[in-house]
Amino acid sequence: MLPKPPPREPSLGFLYLPPYRLYGESIAGESTSLMVPELDLGFDIGSCPRAILPSKHLAITHGHMDHIGGLAYYCSQRRFQGMGNAKIICDARIAGSIKRMMEGYVDLERQRTPYDLVPLLPDQPYEIKNNMFIRGFETEHTAPSFGYVVYERRTKLKPEFADLPQEKLRELKDRGVEIVRVLEIPQIAYTGDTLPGPHLLREDVRKAHVVISECTFFEPDHKERAKIGMHMHIDDIAEWLRVLECQHIVLVHVSRRTDMQFAKERVAKLSGAKNAEKVLFLMDYRTNKARYEAQLLEAEAKEAARLGRRAPVQAARAAEDEDDA
Ligand SMILES: [Zn+2]
Ligand SMILES: [Zn+2]
Repeated sequence: MLPKPPPREPSLGFLYLPPYRLYGESIAGESTSLMVPELDLGFDIGSCPRAILPSKHLAITHGHMDHIGGLAYYCSQRRFQGMGNAKIICDARIAGSIKRMMEGYVDLERQRTPYDLVPLLPDQPYEIKNNMFIRGFETEHTAPSFGYVVYERRTKLKPEFADLPQEKLRELKDRGVEIVRVLEIPQIAYTGDTLPGPHLLREDVRKAHVVISECTFFEPDHKERAKIGMHMHIDDIAEWLRVLECQHIVLVHVSRRTDMQFAKERVAKLSGAKNAEKVLFLMDYRTNKARYEAQLLEAEAKEAARLGRRAPVQAARAAEDEDDA
């Protein structure tokens, strides 16, 4: 008998939440590494899946190894692959520790891996892309911890000027009149590891289009364990869902021993049908694959309908041509 080959490594979790893709891996205590390619932004880096390397910005929630273990490797690989310096966004409280960790590698490797550290104070904005910026906020965990909200900044004509013609608007603008107002629209909130608390009720978190949250415990008798580890329990999620205005909440940081079917049943039972529909699990491969396939079919059907609408016009033209002949 030959010995067995090694177990196959699972692939990344993937969700398409228009206009954003979210992919990565997340298992409580082992590793959480997420990426939103449309924002060129990653969240946490417990390990360093290859697919996350291209992300130029990386927002670290806290220093637990399952969220930061791959950081030095990520910086080093980006350098090795000629991808430019990584921009590491973090809670200012842990910036010194990150620097010291990276200094440790300088000593070990006898070379310096370049990276840019962006320590943020609570609510300090940092631009990650044109009109897109990120803010951190303090959460409650066993180590200093941050959650993040990514916003889109949009300018909108003030309602009192809405009916004016272009010329008039240009004239007002030239005279220095402020004709637009700036809206900040929360797109994605990621809470990292945390206990429930007032930080989860922030307006930008409640109103974010997509909320990514940890949920480590699902068993009814694991509430105490959740509290001790300062993590979220499914009961907390169900309660929170009552005030969340998001389109989707993506649960990550589910423990390996949690059965996915059981977790989904708990969500359905506790959240009510309407809210349960919003809940997705990043690592629910089978459901997410079927969901994406349905999205593909829907997009194809839309495209066909779009072309179909043009078809009758073409048919009419063809008929006219025939009449002319
Ligand atoms: Zn964790
Ligand atoms: Zn943690």
